[in-house]
Amino acid sequence: MTTALAVGRVPDELPRSTDVLVIGAGIVGTAVAAFLAAAGAEVCVVDRAAPADGASSSGEGNLLVSDKLPGPELDLALRSIELWHRRGELVGDDIELEPKGGVVLARTPAERHELWTLARAQAAGGARVRLLESDELSEVEPFVAPGLAGGVFYDQDCQVQPMLAAASRVAELRGLGVRLVWPAEVTGAQHDADGRIVAADTARGRVSIGTCVVNAGGPWSGTVAARLGATVPVVPRRGHVLVTEPVAPVTLHKVAEAGYVGSVHAGDDGRSCSAVVESTRSGTMLLGSSREFAGFSRRVDQEVVAEIAARAASLFPGLRAVRLLRAYVGFRPATPDRMPIIGPDGAVPGLVHATGHEGAGIGLSEATGELVAALVLGHATEVDPAPFAATRFATGQ
Ligand SMILES: Cc1cc2nc3c(=O)[nH]c(=O)nc-3n(C[C@H](O)[C@H](O)[C@H](O)COP(=O)(O)OP(=O)(O)OC[C@H]3O[C@@H](n4cnc5c(N)ncnc54)[C@H](O)[C@@H]3O)c2cc1C
Repeated sequence: MTTALAVGRVPDELPRSTDVLVIGAGIVGTAVAAFLAAAGAEVCVVDRAAPADGASSSGEGNLLVSDKLPGPELDLALRSIELWHRRGELVGDDIELEPKGGVVLARTPAERHELWTLARAQAAGGARVRLLESDELSEVEPFVAPGLAGGVFYDQDCQVQPMLAAASRVAELRGLGVRLVWPAEVTGAQHDADGRIVAADTARGRVSIGTCVVNAGGPWSGTVAARLGATVPVVPRRGHVLVTEPVAPVTLHKVAEAGYVGSVHAGDDGRSCSAVVESTRSGTMLLGSSREFAGFSRRVDQEVVAEIAARAASLFPGLRAVRLLRAYVGFRPATPDRMPIIGPDGAVPGLVHATGHEGAGIGLSEATGELVAALVLGHATEVDPAPFAATRFATGQ
């Protein structure tokens, strides 16, 4: 598949050498490149297909606080949302940044108790939350089903149009002098006597590396790492998204059911479905989503489609009359602890990872770009990098 992002920009030639080589022109790799280049580094980005051809074209574009556990993940999300707002000010309406807020709904009193407990902990970690009683739900979401047990409103939750966000970043890279080369699959690396990466081999030739290579290969990061002599435990976590015909707004905010947060962080390998419902500028509704470890199969599973549709309609009965336009499958880059891997590889000098963002890579891309740039250039970091270190998976740690 070649995305529309490839249109309108002719790929650059592969340079013979670069200070930093970013592997992967998804939302994360391009953010890393932008922050590094803005700080003065010489950067080249290579992609085996085209910009935003991977997970980044599947995301719904939620920039969420609501599904983040208190601690490092929430810290990274809060910083990222701050940076997304700065970006929104810079690029205007080009990325359809909407600070619409998010609502999480509890179906039962037990779910509400769990949700409120989480929300109180998130509030202690810097999130702005409003606990909603059952009878307050319709004030916030007028078309919500009656009889739900309660919810939480998160006013920091936002949305962007991910393809527009990626396109705007690609345009920015050109302005920053970043070389963007595709299709150029990275196939291997050359190491010096100390094991440091000194060159990367691509389908277009070899490029010498001055400082480092950044692995931003999304769900393919495990393979990219292996080709560079390293190991990162990133695997694809498949998800379905349903797209409806354009309708009058059914929701005013981005809405998820409480089980969504649990399914994001679940450690088991089973399939889970939980409803996420949101409107888009074009009037279509996006209904998500499922999670399963099923490799890179693009097969749309009609059972999953039916379950997502039923769960969404049980929250918003008005959806029962709405037709589906299509359903598609995408792949989240998942790690064993559901936290991203950001920082130097523990075993291969000259290799830095920026991957494993699971279902939050669009949201977390800004703070990830900032963090990688600070780590590579030796600057102070805005968030503590230690919890995201690649070395946490090293044997014996
Ligand atoms: C159904 C679904 C819904 C989602 N919804 C949201 C959401 O609402 N909000 C959110 O924040 N996130 C969401 N996500 C997650 C988000 O899409 C990902 O976390 C994010 O896109 C990851 O970006 P990335 O740049 O790391 O990976 P990718 O976009 O996959 O980029 C990796 C790139 O690396 C390239 N590549 C791979 N191997 C090589 C190689 N050997 N050489 C050169 N290039 C290579 C690929 O071609 C690809 O372009 C969703 C994901 C799915 C599947």
